Amino acid sequence: MGKEAAGEGILRNELAPEEFAALSAKEKKRARRWYLPDLPEKLAGPVVDNHTHIWVPAGAAQAGHSDATLTPPRGRMLPNEEAAAMEAAGVCHAITCACEVPDLLPTVAVAEADPAHFSAALAIHPNEAARHRGITATGPDGLAQELAAHHALSLEEAIDRVAQAARSKAVVAIGETGLDYYRTSEEGRAAQIEAFRAHLALARELDLPVQIHDREAHADCVEVLRRDGAPSRVVFHAFSGDAALAELCNREGWYGSFGGQITYPANDELRAAFHAFDSALILAETDAPYLTPVPWRGHPNAPYVMAWTVRFGAELRELAEAQWCAQLLENTRAVYGELGAA
Ligand SMILES: [Zn+2]
Repeated sequence: MGKEAAGEGILRNELAPEEFAALSAKEKKRARRWYLPDLPEKLAGPVVDNHTHIWVPAGAAQAGHSDATLTPPRGRMLPNEEAAAMEAAGVCHAITCACEVPDLLPTVAVAEADPAHFSAALAIHPNEAARHRGITATGPDGLAQELAAHHALSLEEAIDRVAQAARSKAVVAIGETGLDYYRTSEEGRAAQIEAFRAHLALARELDLPVQIHDREAHADCVEVLRRDGAPSRVVFHAFSGDAALAELCNREGWYGSFGGQITYPANDELRAAFHAFDSALILAETDAPYLTPVPWRGHPNAPYVMAWTVRFGAELRELAEAQWCAQLLENTRAVYGELGAA
C-alpha cells in the first residue's frame, strides 16, 4: 500500500510511489481512476456536502454481514475514513444519497451510526424508475440498460420502500428524484414523471426538502414542480441549467447546488448561472464518486474533495473564503436545519 505517491493521492492507493512512477502514461491515466486526491488544506470555515453518495455495503448488508468486515472497492472509503478525511478538510457533514432500493437501508444505517458526520437523502433515481417498469430501451447516452434482481419490485413497491425508510430521523431529504432525458429513453419518461410526482408528494407529506436530478429536462422539471405544488424547500442538485433557469429559481426561492462541474474549463454557461443565483440560494456538493473538481478531475471524488469546489466558488463570487463558507453553511441550515455539529 503506497501512501504518499506525491501529487497522485494519498488515500488507499494500491501502488507504491515507485510502482506508480514505473507505469506508462496510459496506465497512469487508468490508475488515476482509483487514486483518491490528496487531503486539501482545511477550509476557513465548516461547510456541508449537501449531496454525495458514500459507499455502503448494500448486497453484503442484505446478506446479514457486518460492514466492518468489508472492504470498499478501489477509490472508495469506509464511512469512518470518509469522516476523518472530511474533518481534515473542514467539510463537517455530508448528506449521503441512496437512490436504488438495495442502498436505502444501508445508507440510513450509516447516517444513524454517525449522526455527527452523516445524514441521508432517499429516493428512487429517475433512471431506476424506468427500470422498475421493466423499460430497458437505450437512451440518448447510448449505454445499454440492464435489469438487476431488485428491479423485480414494482415502481410503487420501490417508492413505498423509500417512504418506509424515510421515517428515520437520519433522513433529511427526499432525493434524488426528477427527470433524466439523457440516460433514459422516451419510453421511460412516463415512469420518471410518475416517480417524480410521488416523491414530491412524499416530501410535502414529511415536510422534507426535495433534491432534484434534472438532466436535459429543465423545462419539464419546472412544469411538474409548478403543476403539482413544490415542497417548501427545493434543491436542484448538480445544477446544470443556464442563467435563465437560475433567475427562475431566484423567483421561486429554489436552491441551486453546485458541484465540481463549475471548475471545468468548458462550463462557462454553468458559471454564468452560478453568478446569476442569489447568494442565499447556493449550496455546495460533490455528487461523489463522480464529478471530481479540478485539479483532481479523473480521480475518484469524495466529500472531503469539496474543498476545491468551495474555494473555486469563493473566487468566482470574489469573496473571502471564510465569508463564502459561512454563507454556504447558513444556506444549508435554511434548507435542512441543523445537521450533526453543523
Ligand atoms: Zn447524486
